[in-house]
Amino acid sequence: MTPLQALHKYFGYTEFRHQQEAIVQQVLTVGDALVLMPTGGGKSLCYQLPAVLLSGLTVVISPLIALMKDQVDALNINGIPAAFLNSSQNPNEQQSIVSRLKSGEIKLLYLAPERLFGSESRLVTFLKTLNVSLIAIDEAHCISHWGHDFRPEYLMLSSFKTEFPKTPVIALTATADDLTRKDIREKLALHQPKEFVSSFNRPNISYTVAPKKDSYNQLLGFLDEHQEDSGIIYCLSRQNTEHLAADLQKQGYAAKAYHAGLDNETKALNQDQFLRDEVKIIVATIAFGMGINKSNVRYVVHYDLPKNIEGYYQETGRAGRDGLPSEALLFFSAGDAFKLQRFARVEGNEDQSRIMLKKLDDMVKYCQLQTCRRQYLMHYFNEQFPDHCGSCDVCLTEYKKFDGTVIAQKALSAVYRLNQRFGTNYVIDLLRGSRSEKIREEHKQLKTYGIGNDLSKAEWQRYIGQLVIQGYLQVTDDQYPVLKLTSTSEAVLKGQQQVEFSISEAMEEEAKATEPTVYEADLLHELKTIRFNLAMNENVPAYIILSDATLQEMAT
Ligand code: ADP
Ligand code: MG
Ligand code: ZN
Repeated sequence: MTPLQALHKYFGYTEFRHQQEAIVQQVLTVGDALVLMPTGGGKSLCYQLPAVLLSGLTVVISPLIALMKDQVDALNINGIPAAFLNSSQNPNEQQSIVSRLKSGEIKLLYLAPERLFGSESRLVTFLKTLNVSLIAIDEAHCISHWGHDFRPEYLMLSSFKTEFPKTPVIALTATADDLTRKDIREKLALHQPKEFVSSFNRPNISYTVAPKKDSYNQLLGFLDEHQEDSGIIYCLSRQNTEHLAADLQKQGYAAKAYHAGLDNETKALNQDQFLRDEVKIIVATIAFGMGINKSNVRYVVHYDLPKNIEGYYQETGRAGRDGLPSEALLFFSAGDAFKLQRFARVEGNEDQSRIMLKKLDDMVKYCQLQTCRRQYLMHYFNEQFPDHCGSCDVCLTEYKKFDGTVIAQKALSAVYRLNQRFGTNYVIDLLRGSRSEKIREEHKQLKTYGIGNDLSKAEWQRYIGQLVIQGYLQVTDDQYPVLKLTSTSEAVLKGQQQVEFSISEAMEEEAKATEPTVYEADLLHELKTIRFNLAMNENVPAYIILSDATLQEMAT
């Protein structure tokens, strides 16, 4: 039987998707493979189809016991003998599977990683007595610290290559960043693996970010337009999932909560009802969804800020698996970003903290984009994409440009005056003349103190974000990211370079002062001082040459 014939016969599909055919060929010719395909792309078929064509057994490692049964049931319905072994079974059930394995009747065996090596290595010894044709490692990113879902037991899987040196290994994941990819290759000791990277674009999902203000009512408005649809709402905390689900129930929505703290029965029940469309809305922590195969999820809402793009993209990817138009809506607030920043700092592990903070920063940038969100996501996954998708909120919004030079000068002055040693929040506190004692006492003598109190904190965040995107400011990669001037800042401070900001109608309504502001005396004074300082070091950008001591001296 050819792979295409098997595709018709066992799966009832007419054609291969993405690179499924090439992937199947690769493992059939006994080569290792690393498969990167977005959620819903059709990864399972890449090992299930070879499994029916190969003479021996295909061992599938999958992290979630709860999902094995579904997968195995689906295979059996299609006439493919499959089974799983896990701790949810009694000894009799396990024994019967073992004998079916011995007789060579089973084509696919699903296992959780923790059962394989270590104290239960008898299982590996047993597997070695069988004819194992292929090893498939699903959700392979779980092996990497850099992924969003590290599972220590996955590290044991590195023993596969030693125990089964001649058996091809196929690793599959929807998480594509370089670090994770490298980790998978190395930790699984894949032998010259062929990489198959499918486009991560999900054209039928449209992406929207809304300010997290009055978010409950915004959500009700959104749900009102999706009365008949199934959707997932992600919250950060377990408690919030329960509160929100209860609130939505009061509004008449069939909504249920889902989080790791619920007992197994409730979790299984809520998930089942959702899969059967008896419950339309699942309000969940990120514990919900991996491997969930519900094709008609019409929307995914992030009620709180996700920790990183990988997680966000995987979660939004659960919408629209049937290819029909679907929505991803995220509520963003700077407050959420600060909260996550605190979580991201792992005591005693600077490397990890730095990476987590960087990932969070990329997530925040995504929320503040004024360019196509899909393009940003695709670039994040190392994929080329034109600068306009036509279906994200940014592409669909008309932006008005305005002269933001004065706003920019204020921000850059503040950064300069703080000797480029503080982060965005501190700079904003100075600009807005924060009454916090520390800032007041330390900086009230500066004209910059309070020079920007005509704008709200959120507006400053947006404008500073735009200055970073436009390259007039940069954020350091440190554990405590700091704002620094760049080589183009100077021209702005000197009034030689205009800065344009863009603003949508919605933002304009929010904003109080967006017209080019008149030059206040304080700003003029400030700019004069700074320009003088800059002139003293004419040929060299100020940010390189001015030492703290020099600055201090000049400012007084
Ligand atoms: P992933 O593991 O990549 O998230 P799955 O393997 O669960 O995705 O597949 C997602 C859906 O796509 C499933 O419903 C599956 O049956 C379907 N599918 C997979 N391959 C094909 C194909 N070649 N043609 C049509 N549907 C497919
Ligand atoms: Mg899968
Ligand atoms: Zn777009």
